[in-house]
Amino acid sequence: MIKSDEISDEEQKQKSLERVKQSSDEFEISNDDTRLNMFLQAVHTRPWLNLAVRYGAAIVVVIVAFLLYMALTKLFGPGLPTYILFYPAIIIVALIGGLGPGLVATIFSVLLAGIWILPPQGQLSIKSPIDQLGVVLFTAIGIMISSVAELYRRNRMKAAAYDKEEALRETLHEKEFLANILEQASQPFAIGYPDGRLGLHNHAFEELTGYSSIELNTLDWSTKLTPFEWREMETQKLDELQRTGQPSRYVKEYIRKDGSRVPIELLVNIALDVEGNPEYYYSFITDITERKKAEEQKNDMLVKEQQLTEELQSSNEELQSTTEELQSSNEELQSTTEELHMTNKELQHQQDELRELVDKLEVSNRELEQFAYVASHDLQEPLRMVSSFTQLLEKRYKDKLDDDANDYINFIVKGAHRMKDLIDDLLVFSRFNTQAKEFILFDMDTALNGVLSYLQPYININHAQITHDSLPSIMGDSLQIQQVLQNLLTNAIKFHGDEPPLVNIFLKKSEDEWTFGVNDNGIGIDPRYQEQIFQVFKRLHTRDEFEGTGIGLSICKKIIERHGGRIWVESEAGKGSTFYFTIPKKLNK
Ligand code: ADP
Repeated sequence: MIKSDEISDEEQKQKSLERVKQSSDEFEISNDDTRLNMFLQAVHTRPWLNLAVRYGAAIVVVIVAFLLYMALTKLFGPGLPTYILFYPAIIIVALIGGLGPGLVATIFSVLLAGIWILPPQGQLSIKSPIDQLGVVLFTAIGIMISSVAELYRRNRMKAAAYDKEEALRETLHEKEFLANILEQASQPFAIGYPDGRLGLHNHAFEELTGYSSIELNTLDWSTKLTPFEWREMETQKLDELQRTGQPSRYVKEYIRKDGSRVPIELLVNIALDVEGNPEYYYSFITDITERKKAEEQKNDMLVKEQQLTEELQSSNEELQSTTEELQSSNEELQSTTEELHMTNKELQHQQDELRELVDKLEVSNRELEQFAYVASHDLQEPLRMVSSFTQLLEKRYKDKLDDDANDYINFIVKGAHRMKDLIDDLLVFSRFNTQAKEFILFDMDTALNGVLSYLQPYININHAQITHDSLPSIMGDSLQIQQVLQNLLTNAIKFHGDEPPLVNIFLKKSEDEWTFGVNDNGIGIDPRYQEQIFQVFKRLHTRDEFEGTGIGLSICKKIIERHGGRIWVESEAGKGSTFYFTIPKKLNK
C-alpha cells in the first residue's frame, strides 16, 4: 500500500488539477442576472419554450406586416404591391427562427394575402393567372429566404458553440495554470467550507499542518486545526468578511498533526452562493514563526531598553540631586576660594614686602660684611704695631719702671692679643661669603683627620681623647665643613669640666639626610641659652673663665644653613653637650 506522503509529485499535480476541475464545475456562477438574459437562458434551456417562441414570432411578425399593409392602403389608397411587406417579415422570422418558422410565415402570408388582399376579399380564391404566378413566386422566394436563413443560423450556432468551447478550454487552461502555481507555491493555500470540511489545498499547506492530503480531506479545520481560544475571533472575522466582502487578514495558530502549534497569518477571501450565503473561504497562509520570534526578541529588547531607560533615569535623578548638592558645595567652595584668594593676595602682598625687606637686609648685610672685612683687615696693621711696640716696651723697660707701669704694659699686651683674636674671627666671619666654594663630593673621614692633625697640639695640651665613627662622603664645601668640625671640636675640648675631655664624633643615617653628632663630657649648657649661643658674639662666660670671641657657633650655623641642613645642641648644665648638624642627602645625588 502506498502511503500518502510517498505519492510522487506528478501524481499530486494530477490530483490537484482534478480537484480544480471539480471545484470549477461546482462553483461556476453566472454574473448575468438581467431579465432579458434570464429569459434567453430559459428559452435556451427549455425546448418547448424555444419552439413556441420561434413559431409564435412567425405568426405575430406576419400579422404585423399584414396590419401595416392594410394601414398604408387606407392612408394612401390601393396600388401597393401585394407581397411588399411580407418579404421583410419572412426575412426577420427566418433569421430568428430558421427554416421551419420561415416556411410557416411564408404559408401564413400567402393565406392572408389570398383571403384579405386579393379579390374577392373574405374567401381564399386566387383566380387570375398573375395572382397565381405571384403566389408561386412569393412561396418560392419565401422557401429560399428561409433555407438561406436556416443555413446562416446553423453556421452562427456552430461558431458560437465553437467559441464557447474555445473559451471553456481557455478557462480550463487558466485554471490548470493557476492550480499548478498554487500547488507549487511555497505559500500554503487552502479552501475551507463553512461546515468545517477542507477543499482544495496545496502541498505547502500539507507541510505546514503535517497532515497528508488524504487526512486533510476528512479533517474539520474549524475544530481540528484551530485551537479553541482562537475560534471566537475567527468566527467574528469570517462574519465581517461575509458582511463587507473585503478580504480579511488576521493572525492565529494551527495545531499541527504532532500536536505542536504554529503561528500563522491568514489572508482569507470568501465565495458566496446565489443567495449570498458563504459557499467557501479560500485562504493564503503565512508561517510567522520567525516573525513572532523576531517580535518577541524585539519585545524583550524593548523591555530591556525600558528597564535600562528607567535605571538611567533614576541614576540621572540621583546625579541631578548630587549635582544640586555639588552646586551648593561648589558655591561654598567658591566663596572659600574667594576668601583664600583674598588671603593669598594679602599674603602675596606681605611676601612682597618681606622680599623687599630681605633684599634690603641682604644689601645691608653685604655692606656690614664689607665693613667688617675692611675694618678688621685695616685694623690688623695698627694693632700689629701696638702689639709689637708694647712688647718692645715691655722688653726694654720692664725692670726700669715701677710695678704700676709694668701692670699697664701687661694690660696693653693682653688687650692687643684679645683684639687680635677678635679681628681674626671677625675676618673669618666676614669672609664667609667671599670665600665660599662650589659643592663637591668629598670624604668626611679625610676632612676630619685633617682637622684632628691641625688640632693635635691643642688636644695634647688638654689631654683630650677623641673617638669617631667612620664617616661618609658628602657633597659640600669641604673647607667650610672642616671649619664646622674644627669649631665644634675646639669648643668640646675647651669647655671641659674637672675630668679630662672625652669627645666622640658619631653618625646617624636616615633616608633623606646624614646627621653628625659631637658629644663631650664638658660643663654643659643650660637649656635657656641653647638657642642664643648660635648668635654672633654670644658667650656664656667671661674671658677669664674661657677664652673666645663668641663667633665660632654663629659661623657653624651660617655654613650648615648654606648646605641646607640644621644645627642644634642637646645638653644640660654639668652633664656634657651634644652638638648635632645635618647634611641633606639629595645634595649627594
Ligand atoms: P667662643 O667659643 O668663642 O666663646 P662660640 O660661638 O664658639 O664662641 O660659643 C659660644 C658660647 O657657647 C661659648 O662661649 C660657650 O659659653 C658656649 N659653648 C659652646 N660650646 C660649648 C660646649 N661644648 N660646652 C659648653 N658650652 C659651650
